[in-house]
Amino acid sequence: SEHLNSRNDERSVAAFARAKKVIPGGVNSPVRAFKSVGLNPVYMERGQGSRIYDIDGNSYIDYVASWGPLIMGHAHPEVIEAIKRTAEKGTSFGAPTELETLMAELVCERVPSVDVVRMVNSGTEATMSALRLARGYTNRSKILKFEGSYHGHADSLLIKAGSGVATLGLPDSPGVPEHVASHTITVPYNDLESVKLAFEKFGEEIACIIVEPVAGNMGVVPPLPGFLQGLRDVTTQYGSVLIFDEVMTGFRVGYSCAQGLYGITPDLTCFGKVIGGGLPVGAYGGKRELMDMIAPSGPIYQAGTLSGNPLAMTAGYTTLKLLTPDTYEQLERQAVRLQLGFEANARKHGIASTINRVGSMVCPFFTDTFVINYDTAKTSDLERFKTYFAAMLDLGVSIAPSQFEGMFVSAVHTNDDIDATIEAHDKALSRL
Ligand code: PMP
Repeated sequence: SEHLNSRNDERSVAAFARAKKVIPGGVNSPVRAFKSVGLNPVYMERGQGSRIYDIDGNSYIDYVASWGPLIMGHAHPEVIEAIKRTAEKGTSFGAPTELETLMAELVCERVPSVDVVRMVNSGTEATMSALRLARGYTNRSKILKFEGSYHGHADSLLIKAGSGVATLGLPDSPGVPEHVASHTITVPYNDLESVKLAFEKFGEEIACIIVEPVAGNMGVVPPLPGFLQGLRDVTTQYGSVLIFDEVMTGFRVGYSCAQGLYGITPDLTCFGKVIGGGLPVGAYGGKRELMDMIAPSGPIYQAGTLSGNPLAMTAGYTTLKLLTPDTYEQLERQAVRLQLGFEANARKHGIASTINRVGSMVCPFFTDTFVINYDTAKTSDLERFKTYFAAMLDLGVSIAPSQFEGMFVSAVHTNDDIDATIEAHDKALSRL
């Protein structure tokens, strides 16, 4: 194909063919298969700083960052050193370690709404457990989520979901029982009127609202002014729990997460990605009154063989310690530089473009519509995205293979990295 002119991918093609025989669709998470962009996935060999290297010897400036976690870049020396030192003492005990307390103290200190926090192993586990807690605490069944938001793959949350579900254009997943799905109410993101209507109708039955305070799974969509405060008000009025799913935004968009950035206090918060520093970690935490309902202090059950294991804790703790208020200023500067460059390119080529950005989450949509929810995100030209994606790969820039995912700028992206990316974007747009 014309896209493969500069990039050798023989080994990646062979690797994918082999994997497809023994792994569903060849991958352990759907969007990695590059299905929606019609390309062979690129098999990575190693990463260092802002770059990743594939098994055919190509290198890329990386904005996937393992889908968010690697805010300090790939193989950060201090993180790797901490993992090595910890691993030498054993990988897991199934008994408490002091590292877990250090980690919990750090999260509670940085995120004022969190009095108590429980570690789990993925974002999915965090949201699933937070839902159970909200339902158990309120003794209600219904939940409210937003169209095009993704909160992991728990049954109740796989309704009108974003991320890979949106990328692959899939309907609600088979295997989710109707009686479970019927408890999930979905309304458009940023649409406070619809939220209020849902509460007028079902308010006494709604256990919680779960929301990405900055939506990151329909592309990046910032909350409109007043939206998050409106959610806070309506949940307080009806005695429902407000859950911020900060799996993507947590420690990504600010020192005290999105809730710190917007000054809104949720009842519960879910974490993942950055909090694990590249190892499998999730967490959920919040008000003591709620969290005390979790076993063993309370009756709501949730457990995990490897939860809070030393390797994950040390990777996450070391990463969080590296993140200072200065880091977020640096991230903001580099992300703004990227955004401005992309905007200038789009104007130069006369290509319809809307770039949404919050902190280091940047998303160029191929549309000139103001993107405020999933429907407006879908006005993007997906065919154009495909060509753009292939061109960026050829030009040595790795972005998520979907219009419905953002780019993650990391603290190790240099001015040269950003400028090279803007130049690649310029060339890619000239191919559209
Ligand atoms: N919530 C949000 C907001 C996410 O972005 C994701 C993953 N992209 C999840 C939950 C699920 O996390 P995990 O993939 O670790 O299960």
